[in-house]
Amino acid sequence: MRHTIPNVTCTVCGCVCDDLSVVVEGDRITSVINGCRLADPWFPAQTAAHPPACRIGDSAVSLEAAYAEATKILAAAKYPLIYGLSRSTTEGQRAATALADTIGATIDTTASTGHAPSIMALQQVGESTCTLGEVKQRADLVIFWGSDPLVTHPRHRERYCPPKPGRFIVVVDHEETESAKAADLFIRIEPDRDWEAFWELRLMLAGKSTAKRADLQDLADRMKSCRFGIVFFGMGITQGPLAHRTVEALLQLVTDLNDHTRFYARRMRRYGDVAGADSVLTWQTGYPFGVNFSAGYPRYNPGEFTGPDLLAHKEADACLLVGSETANDLPQAARDHLKTIPTIVLDSPGNICPVPASVTFITAVYGIHRPGTGYRMDEVPIPLRVLVPTDYPSDGEVLTELCQRFVASQNSSIG
Ligand code: SF4
Repeated sequence: MRHTIPNVTCTVCGCVCDDLSVVVEGDRITSVINGCRLADPWFPAQTAAHPPACRIGDSAVSLEAAYAEATKILAAAKYPLIYGLSRSTTEGQRAATALADTIGATIDTTASTGHAPSIMALQQVGESTCTLGEVKQRADLVIFWGSDPLVTHPRHRERYCPPKPGRFIVVVDHEETESAKAADLFIRIEPDRDWEAFWELRLMLAGKSTAKRADLQDLADRMKSCRFGIVFFGMGITQGPLAHRTVEALLQLVTDLNDHTRFYARRMRRYGDVAGADSVLTWQTGYPFGVNFSAGYPRYNPGEFTGPDLLAHKEADACLLVGSETANDLPQAARDHLKTIPTIVLDSPGNICPVPASVTFITAVYGIHRPGTGYRMDEVPIPLRVLVPTDYPSDGEVLTELCQRFVASQNSSIG
């Protein structure tokens, strides 16, 4: 039977739009209304394929056999890594943290290939926050810095900062992106010169600049005179070994601006629930990413306990990927090491794992097969609901079962 489900939430990118409709025929989503070029193929793909629930290598196996093999891998590992979590939800992230605690693993999220430097910066200098709803209603100056939302977050502008009288949109980037072409003003910054630009703006605000950049002076004037300004910043300023210093400079600029007006900075998060992964890890361990439990308590040290580094340095001897689609963002050395160690993968039915998996569990997709909670890029929790049924377990259920079996295996080996 064909029917349309309204008010559907999409978790493909950090916008987490909750105004889509999907057309369902039988147990398949056949089309999407009010989506975008990212959401339109993603929803049908999650229900089009029905791969076996579990595999060891390339062979389909029973759930029991997969659990036994995965438990064996975790029990044999001396320095395991749990990585991913940005396409999960609060439920799965909480279960992953409990498993990491139980087995003494390192747990890390895809923030490590994205906004980890931003998180480190806001830990140093703080952050002025607002919701996307406030931006939509109040912002008269919207700046996208190092971000091309028309490509990466296609409905962001339409939903959260649509054109309206008195609203001015600026894009600052190293090249003229799609978003730059659609903006009221584009300012080009040389690659790797964002830190200097933020400090120049700070000096201009303080009236102490000796630079002659008219475009930056114009931006400083607009920033100072607006009534509600926001900088959405993206991956363009979060790459490189000193990226946290660049974001610190931006956050300090925003602090300065709040002496003159209301100004905010918000991260353009890439994946649907990477903001939730930060939140869950923080409330469970005290730290937002890169948390190590090998000493029996949580330790945090970006660069030492972050997934890309642990893999690239060949330290992890087993890996559990919660969502493998983001493995392609890992550096080549990390992906090479992943191919040499036992890897347990929890993946959605529509995903093709980019690395060879020792054990694969196909898991239900939150917001399609299971209810859950996802966090939008502004850290607003959004409820997810069931659209079509499935027999696949959720990642939270698989992780909880692995945790119980690991404990039982340890108890039996002691006994
Ligand atoms: S903008 Fe992002 S969250 Fe919104 S519909 Fe497109 S992919 Fe989904």
